[in-house]
Amino acid sequence: MTSASLLERLACPVCLEPSGCASCSVAERDHAQCLARYSERAACGCGGPDKVPLRASAGAGLECPCCRRTYVLRDGVYDLTPQASVGESTLYADHEFHEHLDVVDNPLLLSARIKADQMRRMLRPAAGDLLLDLGCGSGRFALFATERGARVVGLDLAPYFLPRARAQVDLVVGDLRRLPFRKAAFAGAYCLDVLEHLDEQGVRDVLVEARRMLQPSARLFVYTHAMESSALARFQRGVNHVAHWLGRYGLVNAERERLRKSDHRNAIRSHEHFAALAGQAGLRVIERRYYNVVFKAVIEDLLLRLYEQRRAARGRNATRAKSNAAETASGAARRPYGRGAVVVGQLLTLLLQLDVQLFGRIRTGPFFGLLAPMSRDERRQEGAQP
Ligand SMILES: [Zn+2]
Ligand SMILES: [Zn+2]
Ligand SMILES: [Zn+2]
Repeated sequence: MTSASLLERLACPVCLEPSGCASCSVAERDHAQCLARYSERAACGCGGPDKVPLRASAGAGLECPCCRRTYVLRDGVYDLTPQASVGESTLYADHEFHEHLDVVDNPLLLSARIKADQMRRMLRPAAGDLLLDLGCGSGRFALFATERGARVVGLDLAPYFLPRARAQVDLVVGDLRRLPFRKAAFAGAYCLDVLEHLDEQGVRDVLVEARRMLQPSARLFVYTHAMESSALARFQRGVNHVAHWLGRYGLVNAERERLRKSDHRNAIRSHEHFAALAGQAGLRVIERRYYNVVFKAVIEDLLLRLYEQRRAARGRNATRAKSNAAETASGAARRPYGRGAVVVGQLLTLLLQLDVQLFGRIRTGPFFGLLAPMSRDERRQEGAQP
């Protein structure tokens, strides 16, 4: 949907207002300045200039008074993607890719639920808060976040939203590296499973853009990973070897996991590197929990994949018996879970919680991070450090 409160927060993704501090302001609205100095002005220590608000155009769209571009509604969602490419784009924009990921409107369970719960625990959104979901995908996390009264705007490069998300959540198509919102428009933001898909400049851009979107007391929650591992990660690698081996005999479907990770750029080298990137964007990491997946590796990556593959095989046999060519195994896998499966999923999710409760302090690559905007004084100190 596109609510009135979203409309008043929308802005041109690539145009900056003339006003700012002494180093990022310009004399007047001039699109040549947006083209030539965007990155430098956006990353200014003062938090950067606001973006240019859009106005209704003569047609059905919204027009930018600076670059004169018109942004149009597609299937009820504004497409605010920059015209020129900002950097490399990821496979997530590819429709085929989404087809492979089998997104269904199921309740959030297993590791997806662990991430959602951790977001709620660390970001602590209050009822009525307006949150930004950076890279919202199908909109499942956005729907989860609205359950306790927060309002959410979801943004993604690819418009493969669930029908329920289209009906209940404000959605925008756009690029995370050029966010189409006014300054300080949000009381919080979160970014799950996204940063690992970007190169280093991409991560930097997203953090700078997110920083401008946040109100001074707002927080940014991220789930991503640095290229580190703990001793516990060896256990996970062992389980992955077993899954890979079973995949060779057709006992698990290894294809899906391979696809999901196929476009990872993994630009974050270490937690110090991430803290430095955040610092350059005016954000400070104020809390970090690690995600060592021991229970998840056994339950979700091995046992459930074995079970799913057996279920798919049974589906194929039943299909053959009925000689109903339209009902394929993948179709069966995409159906919503039944009630029994949801209960079992909830119980297994409780077990998966132990990974965070028992091992959340053991330093490893995957992590949940909470970031806060720095004050001007903090930024000045940060700038003074070597
Ligand atoms: Zn400035
Ligand atoms: Zn402009
Ligand atoms: Zn513009």
